[in-house]
Amino acid sequence: MKILVANLGSTSFKYRLFDMTDERVLARGGVERIGAAASTCFVEVGGQRDEQTIAAPDHAAAVRWCLRQLTDKHCLRSPGELAAIGFKAVHAQGLTGVQRVDEAVLTAMEAYADVAPAHNPPYVAAMRLLARELPEIPLVAAFETGFHETIDRANRWYAVPRPWIEQHGIQRWGFHGASHRYIGERTAALLAKPDAKVISCHLGGSSSVCAIAGGRSRANSLGMSPQSGLPHNNRVGDFDIFALPALMRATGKGLNDILDDLATRSGLLGLSGFNDLRDIEAAAAQGNAAARDALAVFVASVRHYLGAYLLLLGGADAIVFTGGIGENSSAIRAAVCAGLDWFGIHLDGPKNAAAKGEMRIDAPASRVQLWTMPTNEEVIVARQCRELLHRASEPASGRAEQGA
Ligand code: ADP
Repeated sequence: MKILVANLGSTSFKYRLFDMTDERVLARGGVERIGAAASTCFVEVGGQRDEQTIAAPDHAAAVRWCLRQLTDKHCLRSPGELAAIGFKAVHAQGLTGVQRVDEAVLTAMEAYADVAPAHNPPYVAAMRLLARELPEIPLVAAFETGFHETIDRANRWYAVPRPWIEQHGIQRWGFHGASHRYIGERTAALLAKPDAKVISCHLGGSSSVCAIAGGRSRANSLGMSPQSGLPHNNRVGDFDIFALPALMRATGKGLNDILDDLATRSGLLGLSGFNDLRDIEAAAAQGNAAARDALAVFVASVRHYLGAYLLLLGGADAIVFTGGIGENSSAIRAAVCAGLDWFGIHLDGPKNAAAKGEMRIDAPASRVQLWTMPTNEEVIVARQCRELLHRASEPASGRAEQGA
């Protein structure tokens, strides 16, 4: 079974093609600058990259070009050999888990366009177009919220009037599910401990910390929306909504403008003026006070959740750093782990400084293993697609289950 896992941007389409007999990546590629006069379509097979300049006015044209490249390269006999295109979808009203994309799923995602403004609108637009233009290929949405269905009420509920929760779904949904699921499974395998207690720190353009025990999510720092929890590159993170009326009076802005500020001009960008952690670290090293503040706020927030999850899990077997920042910033890892000797957490300075890829970075005295680990959200989505397709081919199958 061959499954293409897609990553959509508003003007880009990237994919990995999996052969699910052994979960091998047959090819990776995509199209950049969709909608521009000339787009670039690239494919990498066996380490060799080929590029073509094409005309791709929309995502459907981009996908068709990619499928053509894949058949030319003999990765697919024909586009019909593709069992599904899987998407790491973010949020939908009243839906989670793994779902075959149909009008009901698209409508549910559209209903949360304002809850996940950076994610849902480009996904819905591209998925709707692909569903119309490539009806022969099943589309599957694996929602990031699915992994977090195992979180109990104590860690899921806000203290709000119960009908808000029970009738309107206002609760901490949690996101980054595919990444945290992968980190939980991979760490348990590395430790040869299926019931391992793992704290997964996915730190990147968007960031979250997750408490995992026995492969199940017990809490996630992201709440009702992907704007919550830790500060993100340009999204705010946790914020007291009773600041809103004061802000509206002070600035004269309307609610939508302030929400837009919180979703696009806040987070690390809002504090420092830089969007990218590399720039923030470089500016901080040159004495830029705003950059230093941004780093301090970010680290304090990671430590806030780390502390909470150490209590929640009753300690941890491993703390894992993943995502662009988690894998690459030794300074952030060192700051997060500083002074935690009391908890049996000791980082090894030289190992941390040299870490690359999947590596242990704890000192011999550490009771808690510390790791850097590249995540693999795509293989999780591919597995979820395969499971959905298998279930759908069984005689008495109904709508996809909610907790995959
Ligand atoms: P996304 O959440 O958008 O998938 P990534 O996980 O790729 O993003 O993370 C992007 C972030 O990782 C950016 O803020 C970038 O600055 C940061 N990053 C990437 N490489 C490094 C590095 N070498 N040092 C520090 N930060 C890095």
